Amino acid sequence: TTERDAAFVAAWLTASADAVRAEADRLTELDSAIGDADHGNNMRRGFTAVVASLENEPQTAPGGVLLLAGRTLVSTVGGASGPLFGTLLRRAGKALGEAERVTDAELKEALGTGVDAVAQLGGAALGDKTMLDALLPAVDALPDYAAAARAAEAGSQATIPLRAHKGRASYLGERSVGHEDPGAASAALLLGALFQVSR
Ligand code: ADP
Ligand code: MG
Ligand code: MG
Repeated sequence: TTERDAAFVAAWLTASADAVRAEADRLTELDSAIGDADHGNNMRRGFTAVVASLENEPQTAPGGVLLLAGRTLVSTVGGASGPLFGTLLRRAGKALGEAERVTDAELKEALGTGVDAVAQLGGAALGDKTMLDALLPAVDALPDYAAAARAAEAGSQATIPLRAHKGRASYLGERSVGHEDPGAASAALLLGALFQVSR
């Protein structure tokens, strides 16, 4: 079975930062329809800081990379997405501990722990039109990285007809229907980046 090291996880986060930068305008457009039009900027600021922190404090373990990235997101992003994606990465990092190599199965389990922590922190479940609608099916599809990327994208598209029950979009009630959730779109970018670096 393939083992993953700190460089693999750092490459994932760097590829995520590139994807977020490339799609920041689209993410902000999605958030302008059902939120406060800052999601692209929040994600860009957060992931730019993640890449910088990994350069400044090189890590030797996959868990250490995820912990540092999660802490950085929490401390640099003011919006809801910072603590939520930050918690995902921190809890996944904590689950992996200090091992210098982890299997794809261990990575799946750790990311599952992180996604569960996001659900706990935000009080959201599948179908509430949040990032969880992309994250939950993606983690289920792991360790098949291609299937996970497809599941995240499909999960994000599936938020379009939903009514939001959590976060700012929920203030719109029925008017949140007909728009893709910005956080789910970001989650799909992160899973796409993971597939890209896994090949
Ligand atoms: P803010 O809403 O504070 O401006 P962002 O625009 O950066 O923060 O992020 C909004 C995204 O955060 C939403 O599209 C949604 O996916 C996610 N989100 C918001 N609240 C929750 C929650 N309680 N549980 C899970 N995800 C949430
Ligand atoms: Mg917003
Ligand atoms: Mg905001």
